[in-house]
Parts: sequence; structure tokens; C-alpha cells
Amino acid sequence: MSADSIIPFAFEAMPVRGALIHLSRSWRRMQRDHSYNALITTTLGEAAAATGLIAKSLKFDGAITLQLQGSGALQMLVMQCTNDLDIRGMASTDEGVVANNFVELTENAHCAITVDAGDRPYQGIVAIQGESLSSSLEHYFDRSVQVPSHVALVANEHVAAGVLLQQLPGQPIDADDWNRLHFLTQTLTVKDFDGDAGLDLIGKLFAADDVRVHKPRPVKFQCRCSDQKVEDVLKMLGEEESRVALTEQSEIEVVCEYCGHKRSFDSVDVTRLFADNVVTGPESVQ
Ligand SMILES: [Zn+2]
Repeated sequence: MSADSIIPFAFEAMPVRGALIHLSRSWRRMQRDHSYNALITTTLGEAAAATGLIAKSLKFDGAITLQLQGSGALQMLVMQCTNDLDIRGMASTDEGVVANNFVELTENAHCAITVDAGDRPYQGIVAIQGESLSSSLEHYFDRSVQVPSHVALVANEHVAAGVLLQQLPGQPIDADDWNRLHFLTQTLTVKDFDGDAGLDLIGKLFAADDVRVHKPRPVKFQCRCSDQKVEDVLKMLGEEESRVALTEQSEIEVVCEYCGHKRSFDSVDVTRLFADNVVTGPESVQ
């Protein structure tokens, strides 16, 4: 089994299901056009692992977004994963503010999870709890979603990985068993993901338990930007503003913050864009 996948599993003797995520190539691709410091790298990588695990744990059709918005060192962190496990994410920071750990980084920050499932989008607010993203998410699952969960997340510039364990609804579990599972997930480190972690790692982590492993699902980096979406942004900006931008430079260059894709618009493009605007009313439809 290779990296960039999620392995779902279940315990034979306990009402607990789980999943292990291991991102490598997709995670490095996410960082390609950025130079994040070590703390942002860890936080963004943990967010990638968490969002993949949450996406796998939910039934939805669309995309799930984990978003941290702050006014300190971390200005914005967005991680998005679709039901097909296409993932993308980025962070923007204020270089002038020093943060030494997750608590300082997310001071005054808000965290939200949005599940965009077609016509029924819903959002949950995640309170920043404890000293990590994983403890904040455990609190969210316990209190907001009422699915007691253990979350372990690890990341560096090469690996973004984690484990999610969730109790099955309506089936009580022995408190000692649940605590033992918590302890085991907390032993997870980035070193566990040297080489092919996968099945061997699940076996190693839960060596005393019978674990049934399901088919792994691939996760890949995939941006959702398009020419159309960027053109829509320019249209919202308006013709006048676009023309002003063109007087300063010969082209308007729009760079996607997620994938680094550059799109340029010159005066001919801008004319076409706003000419389109005039003819795409309902009157133009035959
Ligand atoms: Zn993009």
C-alpha cells in the first residue's frame, strides 16, 4: 500500500471504526508554490490529514472545507476535500507576528467546518481547545457532532498523516477500552510514516486487537480553480476596476493560491469579458 491514501478499518471486538490517512506526494504538491515556516507547515499538514479523515467519515456529495481565520500570525488557513478525496489547501500568514506554537498561532482565530453538499450546506464551528488542532477536533466531534472520537495528527514537510477513531452511534464502549485506544493513537509520530506505513502501521498500533481493514481509497491533490471562476471574479470586480488595473500593467495576472496556476488577462480579454456580460441575459437565449 502506498502513501496518498486512506485506509478505513473497524475493530472486531469493540464498536469503533477508524481510518488511517497518509499523505506524501499530494501534501508536497500543496506546499510547492509556498514557503511556509515550520509551525505553519505542521499546522497545514495536520489540517490536510484531518480534512481527509473527516471527508472519509461523512456521507456527502460535494466538498468539505476546514477553515481557520485569525488576526494574528495566522490570517487564513483553508483545507478542502471532496467526496472523491481530491484535496487542496493553503495558508496565509502575517510575517510580522511571531508565533511559537499552535496556541499562539491561533490566538483570536475561528475555526469552522463547512460541508457543501449541494443544496444543503451546513457549517459547524470548532472551538480552539487545548494545544492542538487534534484536541479541538475531538472536542468538536464530542460536543457538536456527538460522535466521541480520538484524533491523532502528525505532519512535517514530507508527511501529513493521522488516525481517526470513532464510536459507533448507540453502542456503548467500555471506558477502559476507549482510554486505551486514546493512549495508542497518541503514540503516533511522523517517524511511523517512513516508507510504507499502511497496513503494517495499523497492525503495530493496535497489536492487541482484531482489526478488520477495508479497501484503501486514494487521495490526490486536485485544484478546483478554473478560467470560468477567475473570469467571474473579474466580472464582480467590474469593468472600470479591471481597466484601471490594465493601465498600471499591460496584463492582469491572477495566480491561484492553491495550485499556483497563473492566468493573464490583457485588454482584449477584458473587452471580451464585459462584452459577454451584455449578451448573456435571458434575452439572448433563443
Ligand atoms: Zn488552482
